[in-house]
Amino acid sequence: MKNYLRTSFPSVTRNEALARGVAAQFCMLLDPTVEELSDVRTAVSEAVTNAIIHGYGSPDGTVVLELESEDGLLTVIVSDEGRGIEDVELAMRPFYTGAPDKERAGMGFAVMQAFMDSVAVESEPGKGTRVTMRKRFGTDE
Ligand code: ATP
Ligand code: MG
Repeated sequence: MKNYLRTSFPSVTRNEALARGVAAQFCMLLDPTVEELSDVRTAVSEAVTNAIIHGYGSPDGTVVLELESEDGLLTVIVSDEGRGIEDVELAMRPFYTGAPDKERAGMGFAVMQAFMDSVAVESEPGKGTRVTMRKRFGTDE
């Protein structure tokens, strides 16, 4: 069965929990393990936090969360129309942060990659960022 959900919300930090909850609820339809559910919550949390904090850094942006599933394959897309990323390859390196003053660890993308099967980032400075993550459910028997 194919299923999808698209929603958007203002770029305020408390909406990170909202997005995480929506994603988890969507995943419930895939009959997830506790671990799979936790992985998706964590990855969505990192991507949405990045959109809110780095993409916009102010409450007047809109973050879009798209969820799709088909035959146990989940696709999550988190996108913003914020400031964008100059060098995606550099930004995705573990411990790299563009905001050292904000005491960030630079581990968000590494965490997304650890918990999802694939993470793809498309970004253009001044235009925005789109993070596409995929995960196959029900792989361990
Ligand atoms: P942490 O996630 O560990 O708190 P971090 O957010 O700096 O730290 P990453 O999530 O790995 O680390 O992101 C690395 C860098 O990529 C960020 O510091 C920021 O410069 C840039 N970045 C990530 N997402 C976005 C985005 N949506 N818009 C603009 N820049 C982004
Ligand atoms: Mg981050």
